[in-house]
Amino acid sequence: MQIQIYGAGIAGSYLYELLSQNGFKVRIYDLRNKPDCRCAWGIAYNEAKELYRKIGVDLDDYILSIPKEVVINGKIVLKNKNVYIFDRKRLLEDLWKDFEFEKAEADIVVDATGCSRAILPKIENDSIYYTIQTVEKHDLDENIYVQMRKTGYAWAFPLGDRWHIGAGDLSYERAMELIHQLREVYGIKDRGNECYCKAKIRMLPPSECKPIVYGNVYGVGEAVGCVSGGGEGNAPSLRCAWIFYECLANDKLDEYEKRVLEEFWWIEEEHKFVRAVQEGKKFTALRLLPKVVSIESKRSIQQSVKDIKNLLNLLRW
Ligand SMILES: Cc1cc2nc3c(=O)[nH]c(=O)nc-3n(C[C@H](O)[C@H](O)[C@H](O)COP(=O)(O)OP(=O)(O)OC[C@H]3O[C@@H](n4cnc5c(N)ncnc54)[C@H](O)[C@@H]3O)c2cc1C
Repeated sequence: MQIQIYGAGIAGSYLYELLSQNGFKVRIYDLRNKPDCRCAWGIAYNEAKELYRKIGVDLDDYILSIPKEVVINGKIVLKNKNVYIFDRKRLLEDLWKDFEFEKAEADIVVDATGCSRAILPKIENDSIYYTIQTVEKHDLDENIYVQMRKTGYAWAFPLGDRWHIGAGDLSYERAMELIHQLREVYGIKDRGNECYCKAKIRMLPPSECKPIVYGNVYGVGEAVGCVSGGGEGNAPSLRCAWIFYECLANDKLDEYEKRVLEEFWWIEEEHKFVRAVQEGKKFTALRLLPKVVSIESKRSIQQSVKDIKNLLNLLRW
């Protein structure tokens, strides 16, 4: 059985290693000749550490920083539990060193092309957000700084001796506005950057990214909505690739879609919450709030219902 993976981002690269190390006949292909450098370098450490171990990668070799706190709109300070900043680009570069990109007919095709979703049918009513990011030198305490509004947020992530400054919102113009606000609130001056780029992110949960499977094509990662309501897609995309691998290895590919939908129930809840906030549905949001707080307190940042209510008040809902 021949497998062809399209897309060698976080999910595709990981899946290629899982399959090839376990004796499957697999090819991989990416449009790029080097990994993209978008500033998606925050990762849910515990989960990613365990998943990368399965392909012989020690995530600790790529950790750049462990931020202490997450400061939101200059007013709310939360304790960081499990968001580590890793050198995503170097990790992918190391994996790509052993790849020979090729594409050909295959029995099973994997669409791991992320936001592009280049192989699976397009999603009706897709929801794509626009991001801008830079790398800059600053002298700040090693925290994550966030400037948020209902439709998006800007961030400053410590990379050791540099900072990733970026934002995502409904348009590039709105993302840029958020970056200006972030600079004002935290005194992060624009003294020029070493790198500047734009990207996109899909903000839809898996249940709204159907089909997840189409004939012999299987979607993995962001192509099928493995991105949380807060924009976390690295560990979920790895997890999704692992689920695909388990289904294939156990001859249970017919269960793949169901397993993806079950695994990412928490992403579904987060998107419902974000949507309720954006649409001003206060009581729906309040109903979902305890669940979202409990999910995120376990996987990323320590928070309480009171913290998030304070945040929602800042967002003037
Ligand atoms: C600016 C930004 C910041 C983010 N920050 C974070 C963060 O801090 N933490 C976090 O967890 N998540 C973050 N995310 C989300 C996260 O980056 C993605 O959800 C995650 O990378 C998805 O992994 P993936 O493998 O599915 O897709 P990707 O990593 O996007 O990989 C897709 C690959 O497919 C390739 N490709 C595209 N079209 C084709 C084609 N036609 N043929 C072949 N190859 C193709 C691309 O070149 C790319 O290499 C961020 C996203 C953005 C845009």
